[in-house]
Amino acid sequence: MSDDVNRQLVLIERPVAEVERRHFELRSEPVPEPGDGEFLVRVCWLGFDPTQRGWLNDVPSYMPPVQIGEVMRSSGAGQVVASNHPDYAVGELVSGTFGWQDYAVSDGRGLAGQVAKVPPGVPPTWMLGPLGVTGLTAYFGMLDVAGVEEGDQVLVSGAAGATGSVAGQIARIKGAAKVVGLAGGPEKCAWVTDVAGYDVCIDYRNEDVGRRLGEEFPRGMDVYFDNVGGPILDDALMHLALNARIALCGAISTGYDVQELPPGPKNYAQLIIKRSRIEGFLVLDFVPRFGEAIGELAGWLTSGDIKVEEDVQEGLENAPATLARLFTGANLGKQLLTVAEPPLPIAA
Ligand code: NAP
Repeated sequence: MSDDVNRQLVLIERPVAEVERRHFELRSEPVPEPGDGEFLVRVCWLGFDPTQRGWLNDVPSYMPPVQIGEVMRSSGAGQVVASNHPDYAVGELVSGTFGWQDYAVSDGRGLAGQVAKVPPGVPPTWMLGPLGVTGLTAYFGMLDVAGVEEGDQVLVSGAAGATGSVAGQIARIKGAAKVVGLAGGPEKCAWVTDVAGYDVCIDYRNEDVGRRLGEEFPRGMDVYFDNVGGPILDDALMHLALNARIALCGAISTGYDVQELPPGPKNYAQLIIKRSRIEGFLVLDFVPRFGEAIGELAGWLTSGDIKVEEDVQEGLENAPATLARLFTGANLGKQLLTVAEPPLPIAA
């Protein structure tokens, strides 16, 4: 590795609104050597999550912000290329929080427990999507927080995205009577119904959401899995069934930036009238149960009960622009970026 370098995207200025390339500097350093109990990963794929935008704000959150001068925090998957760790062998494929860089040194510990090994036969990028943060968020949000039950009428926003697409398919698997998605544009809506198997998809950019929710849920919805917040949450609040459950997963319509915050939901008093519950959650609360969830999700992926899509960009230098895609809705399914091919033969 001595003739190679480690390129890193380092935060040099905090964005106020959209993330741009100018907020990061591309630096090169020698490829690091792993110490005792450490291993070196060649990062091959990066995963993109809207929460990364929040990590760039210097405000209190569920984890510290990325500091000026630090490599941008990010999920990634790659291959072990050198190891002084008894549990991680050269050639193994792994996933973890490796950052926007070519090489990462790890001691095996990660944000969600341990650096995961990619099981044989599983596409490594699934560890960043349906078997990683977004799939697990869909799983626990729909099953534990929303408590979806057979016969439920279910609404999911961000339905063509990595989390929302899986959330609606889990509701269908669990016997929901009707699963309605919200997505931006006719192409995304066609994918949501034709591939992900939702019953209906409302194109929130071109349709009157409030009117359409009234048509699709004449007796109200039992579950709303909310990825977007904002005016769509207000519309959903007006169409709740008695004892409805809203799983507050994300609020991407706010942009997760530090501009003036949008007003809160106008229609929250509907929660009283409909004796309903709204509950925020973080997937990290469920770390002890990740193994159980990954087993069940892997079964549904293998059987074809859950269909997934990936949007794959290329080149480490394009990471900031790739993160921005989540906020313009350019992605269909899990947003990924290829950094390199695995350099070594894949260990069996
Ligand atoms: P994603 O859904 O794959 O991508 C983001 C999507 O959001 C875009 O494709 C876009 O789809 C939609 N969007 C962007 N701006 C919007 C706006 N102003 N109004 C409505 N929709 C908008 O991303 P993801 O990683 O799966 O994340 C989805 C949500 O889950 C995010 O809110 C994220 O923060 C949240 N999340 C929460 C947790 C947790 O632990 N609570 C964990 C992971 C993710 P359209 O083209 O359809 O607009």
